[in-house]
Amino acid sequence: MGIESKYIWMDGKLVPFADAKVHVLSHTLHYGLGVFEGIRSYPQPDGSGGVFKLDEHLRRLTDSAKMCRMDLPWTQAQLKEGCLETLEANGMADCYIRPIIFFGMGKMGLGARDNPVHCAIAVWDWGKYLGDEGIRNGIRVQTSTFTRHHVNSNLQRAKVIGHYVNSVLARYEAIDNGFDEAIMLDGSGHVAEGTGENLFACRDGVVKTPPVVNILGGITRRTVIDILRHDGVQVHEMQFGRDALYVADEVFLSGTAAEITPVREVDRRTVGTPGAITRRVQQVYQDGVSGKIDWMKPYITGFRPK
Ligand SMILES: *Cc1c(COP(=O)(O)O)cnc(C)c1O
Repeated sequence: MGIESKYIWMDGKLVPFADAKVHVLSHTLHYGLGVFEGIRSYPQPDGSGGVFKLDEHLRRLTDSAKMCRMDLPWTQAQLKEGCLETLEANGMADCYIRPIIFFGMGKMGLGARDNPVHCAIAVWDWGKYLGDEGIRNGIRVQTSTFTRHHVNSNLQRAKVIGHYVNSVLARYEAIDNGFDEAIMLDGSGHVAEGTGENLFACRDGVVKTPPVVNILGGITRRTVIDILRHDGVQVHEMQFGRDALYVADEVFLSGTAAEITPVREVDRRTVGTPGAITRRVQQVYQDGVSGKIDWMKPYITGFRPK
């Protein structure tokens, strides 16, 4: 199945998939100022659906809108209702959820301030973002020639639509060069993240990951840190260069779309098949989002697909 569903939520009500349209003079289409989220629902043991960390994602969404000075006509609670209504109406328990907030038509130009703010929530079936084979055996990555945004050129902790030009360019380049994904370095040359995933490196049983300064503060990243600390594994949030990846015992990426994806090669240096720490985090994450781990259950919002 592709991105089709029965209904998309638009500005407070469900509309048939084919009718979920916007005008070509929508402000966001021209200048990229808008915000979005990527959330997942997983089937739960009792057959219902469960959204993982829905409140955390919607909080980041409203934070992103605030930072961009977009005044939302909906509260976070209303957006939560919207997500659940969309999931129920589409009868999907195992899917990706994409809320997007954008400026509609009105005035053009960079200084336009009064354009209407719209919100849409779509759901679709999204399997393994970096491939089934990637999840099992690891992917091959390349350091990008594109630099991650300077910390002061954008709002790094916001999921802003326009930011993703940088990610798409890096992803295209990596794929064209025969790799599966790009690793982005920041303006000072430190490892930042993947194009849409955070990054972890392990050596001698100790794990490190870049701090949330010039990266998107991933909700999966937070979950991974919690899983590791639960197991008594040391995790350091610190800066490091690409050379740390070349000598790592294990490297993996984390994200709602990518889940936990092992990396088996960086810039033609072998990291190897997924190691014990990566495997363990993958397993706990999958069990956790599927409602099988007690301490992770409070993060799941249940619903009944119709
Ligand atoms: C969304 C995103 C991530 C992952 O965040 P999650 O909250 O774990 O889904 C990481 N990096 C970038 C650039 C992203 O856009």
